Amino acid sequence: MSIKYVHKPETIQEAVELLYQYKGKGKIIAGGTDLVIEIKNRKTNFEALIDVSSIKEMSFIRIENGIVEIGGATTFTEIAKSKLLSSRLAGLKEAAHSIGSPQIRNKGTIGGNICNGSPAADTVPPLLALDAVAVVKSKHEEREVLVEELLLDKGKVALRDDELLVSVKFKNPSHKEILSFSKLGLRKALAISRICTSVFIEFDEEKICKEIRIANGSLGRFGMRERETEQFFKDKVLNEEVIEEGVNFMQQQVAKRLAGRSTVEFKSAAVKGVLRNALNNAINFNG
Ligand SMILES: Cc1cc2nc3c(=O)[nH]c(=O)nc-3n(C[C@H](O)[C@H](O)[C@H](O)COP(=O)(O)OP(=O)(O)OC[C@H]3O[C@@H](n4cnc5c(N)ncnc54)[C@H](O)[C@@H]3O)c2cc1C
Repeated sequence: MSIKYVHKPETIQEAVELLYQYKGKGKIIAGGTDLVIEIKNRKTNFEALIDVSSIKEMSFIRIENGIVEIGGATTFTEIAKSKLLSSRLAGLKEAAHSIGSPQIRNKGTIGGNICNGSPAADTVPPLLALDAVAVVKSKHEEREVLVEELLLDKGKVALRDDELLVSVKFKNPSHKEILSFSKLGLRKALAISRICTSVFIEFDEEKICKEIRIANGSLGRFGMRERETEQFFKDKVLNEEVIEEGVNFMQQQVAKRLAGRSTVEFKSAAVKGVLRNALNNAINFNG
């Protein structure tokens, strides 16, 4: 099917009306950094593009009542450069800054990063570690769903054809909490292999890790939380010895998950360094 129509709605309501009207044959485009490649490769089965990049109510970063909300069409550059997002959210800002090139960061959006469903989407692990929720809208309904629950499989997210990801929301970290990020390799190295890890930690006064959420990208069919490794670190002081034991634990988890794949040896070894970095970035945070 070839693309016959391109729409540029100015409001969310107009966009969801269009999605409804096309009954599965309308496709959202935001920055186009993934979709245009798909279209060039002729992997399309829709007749209309609905361009949400000019919808102002989808491009914002705000904090209200301790909740951070980022519009789905907010670009990586806006996130990376945001002065509103505190340095305690370094993990999200660094993830956005690590993406592609300046051109890609100027165009690519956080909504597109999630909805494209790539296992290597860099903003997904920080959002998982933040326990972020996505606000999703269709013509007749608005719902909130954990970003984690949106990720079904490689390239597959739990959004209906008529649904738009309007924003993502999460709790603003307190002075005891920190989100960090670490990434191995550049996109050019994607064919070889690439891993990114984000860690959210809440320390108590004794520097004990009261709460920890760890999420990885490129270590499965979609970005995922590492709950067994989280349990390993919880209620411990993260000294060098504990970190070493923990990264070895993670290595075994990854080796089990990727068993039989050609990348298992490289990835299970490499994840140790990436997790160690993310943990040290959180521990050594000086905000
Ligand atoms: C050279 C290059 C380098 C890159 N490097 C990286 C990298 O280092 N890390 C990384 O993570 N990614 C990278 N990417 C991938 C890409 O930039 C991201 O996935 C980007 O976030 C996609 O956002 P977009 O706005 O361009 O989405 P689009 O391409 O416009 O859309 C992608 C998909 O999401 C859907 N979609 C978009 N927005 C919404 C919404 N609000 N609601 C519902 N559905 C929506 C579209 O229908 C489409 O299916 C790179 C891409 C290129 C070309």
